[in-house]
Amino acid sequence: MPPVFRFAPSPNGYLHLGHALSAILNFDMAKAAGGRFLLRIEDIDATRCRPEYEEAIYEDLAWLGLSWEEPVRRQSQHLDAYRQARDRLDAMGLLFPAFESRGEIARLAGERAFWPLDPDGAPLYPGEGKMLPDEERRRRIAAGAPYALRIDMDKAIARAGALHWQESGRGPGGESGIVTADPRAWGDAVLARKEVPTSYHLSVVVDDTLQGVTHVVRGVDLFWSTSLHRLLQSLLGLPAPLYHHHRLVLDADGRKLSKSTAATALRALRQAGATPDAIRAMVGLG
Ligand code: GLU
Repeated sequence: MPPVFRFAPSPNGYLHLGHALSAILNFDMAKAAGGRFLLRIEDIDATRCRPEYEEAIYEDLAWLGLSWEEPVRRQSQHLDAYRQARDRLDAMGLLFPAFESRGEIARLAGERAFWPLDPDGAPLYPGEGKMLPDEERRRRIAAGAPYALRIDMDKAIARAGALHWQESGRGPGGESGIVTADPRAWGDAVLARKEVPTSYHLSVVVDDTLQGVTHVVRGVDLFWSTSLHRLLQSLLGLPAPLYHHHRLVLDADGRKLSKSTAATALRALRQAGATPDAIRAMVGLG
């Protein structure tokens, strides 16, 4: 079976040089390995994703000289698959509804000294919702309260045991080879919400399996997400792909590029006369 690589952008802004590095690396590695290259549109966040950004992804990647298999998987069309995975975790007793807003969690965490943050910098869930009796949960849900479905991390870890992954790139601290997953760093992470039956973390593991992805090549900013992905794969009985996290493209101030910075958008560079070869050189793949 040929290896399967994927580039999985979210259409919530224009692609920039960091995306170019990731997309080209995936494409080149697939080619070198005689493998397949897939494009996946991660558009579950309906409030931030726009059709014009999706069109721009196809245009920018084609301009870079990349080609991918059709049809492209668009996550918004597969909510049922994610709902099934959510329901399986729920049936295992691993999910609970948490009714606090992000602001309330920040406030609760702020009241305690040295409250830990998750790898994305958000305060860990303080755990209040785990104490609510079932009856009270049902009452609030019936009353239409918004909620997030969180994973009970202690229960999940007890069930999954120790987890590892094979890393051929490098983590932020130089991690390489067999890396020990640390899902506890995410606390009781959000896996779904009242109005959306999934989250980035849940969709990505479901899709990587359904698409037969064997090699996940992505930016090092997602390195610690892999801990949570390995946990979900283990709980759902899904195979673990190989992982390769690559360096990020930084701006002149040494910061990670953002979709809101127009200057490093691929279309701005193209309009300014850059060629696909120049883009390769700019991301250090010359
Ligand atoms: N959709 C994610 C992003 O835009 C990438 C997902 C992944 O490669 O696992 O950053």
